[in-house]
Amino acid sequence: SAGRIVVIGGGFGGAACARALKRADARLQVTLIEPNKLFTACPFSNEVIAGLREIEAQQFGYDKLAADDITVVAQAATAIDTQKRSVTTADGVMLAYDRLVLSPGIDFHFEPLPGYDEAASEKMPHAWQAGAQTLLLRRQLEAMPDGGTVAIAIPANPSRCPPAPYERASLIAHYLKTQKPRSKVLILDAKDAFTQQRLFEKAWKELYGDMIERIALSQGGRVTSVDASTRTIITEFGNYTPDVANVIPPQRAGRIAAIAGAADATGWCPIDPVTFESKLVKDIHVIGDACLGGGIPKSASAASAQGKACAAGIVNLLTGRVPEAPRITGVCYNTVAPGYGFSLAGNYQPKGDVFAEIEGGATSPVDAPRELRAREADEAGRWFQTITADCFG
Ligand code: FAD
Repeated sequence: SAGRIVVIGGGFGGAACARALKRADARLQVTLIEPNKLFTACPFSNEVIAGLREIEAQQFGYDKLAADDITVVAQAATAIDTQKRSVTTADGVMLAYDRLVLSPGIDFHFEPLPGYDEAASEKMPHAWQAGAQTLLLRRQLEAMPDGGTVAIAIPANPSRCPPAPYERASLIAHYLKTQKPRSKVLILDAKDAFTQQRLFEKAWKELYGDMIERIALSQGGRVTSVDASTRTIITEFGNYTPDVANVIPPQRAGRIAAIAGAADATGWCPIDPVTFESKLVKDIHVIGDACLGGGIPKSASAASAQGKACAAGIVNLLTGRVPEAPRITGVCYNTVAPGYGFSLAGNYQPKGDVFAEIEGGATSPVDAPRELRAREADEAGRWFQTITADCFG
């Protein structure tokens, strides 16, 4: 074969990369390692939490990738030997590679949030990896009495999908307004400013009155610890015991990245922005949420664009050609109520050691007629169909 490429992680980054590799050179031997038979997508999972969509609409299998002649291994990668260039999977099988691509997404970083761990997430769900956690948060909302409070604890950046916590607050408010109108959403935020803030705040006022209250970092909103046994959230200035506690902890690259030695002290993976090659380990590339993308917000659209750019980089490296600097486009839609959406698009190119934003970005206007919001909500649905068909269809 023209080379053995192993890709770890069958999410937006990994699936896009595996397919692009095969498309660029059919002789490449491409293996995708992913423990789940069904991938559950995070974009639009806030709709599932709000009861507007079923989880099945979020789930995608790997049959089409297998039909593309990609070897799909339904196991977790557990060890990497960077000298021998091999990956071991949970069942003990070893796979050799010439190049290894890591797209493991995020894991949670529990140390900065005392009291929160895997067990606590069963009481205070994060729902920041879609699936069982998404459904748990939805059930908790359904079980909550009218007049209750839903708290959402939001971490500082960098984290997966910076606008998504605010989209979630909006859609939970929509659920409460229609089902439990005496209830409240309380945002406890480790940030002062956030992306698309003016658009969100305008929509909240317009749609939800004062149902959503936000306590920002400088007002003491940063969560310092939790007590899952009493469902208590402790912030810099006070204690809260909400009826439903959605605690989104700080994050870092999926743990296999650290096992590979590709993560630095920040918990994320520094890369060469032209080829996505790790700055720390040879023959390993890191894409998606796990990499330090500089100015690129962590999103599904960026992960899949990075996957394709990384594939092109690998093919060039294998054939001795000089890799071209990629241009990455990230677009992010936020839906704050059915038929009410807005978006943010950015373009990025390598500048020195990192990605920097270049011209051509756009954000929805703050003052716009409802028809535009409705159109953008429709576009968001089409975006999801397109990207999931591209990765899995
Ligand atoms: P993922 O898509 O998470 O894929 C990682 C995969 O790696 C997983 O399938 C996992 O099982 C696998 N894996 C991990 N470890 C191993 C291992 N050791 N061995 C094998 N496999 C492993 N982005 C947008 O662009 N638009 C949106 O509207 C949007 N909305 C969002 C809403 C919410 C609520 C959230 C939480 C996120 C949202 N995102 C959105 C962000 C988006 O989901 C992520 O940025 C994207 O999934 C990142 O892709 P990835 O490939 O890095 O990781």
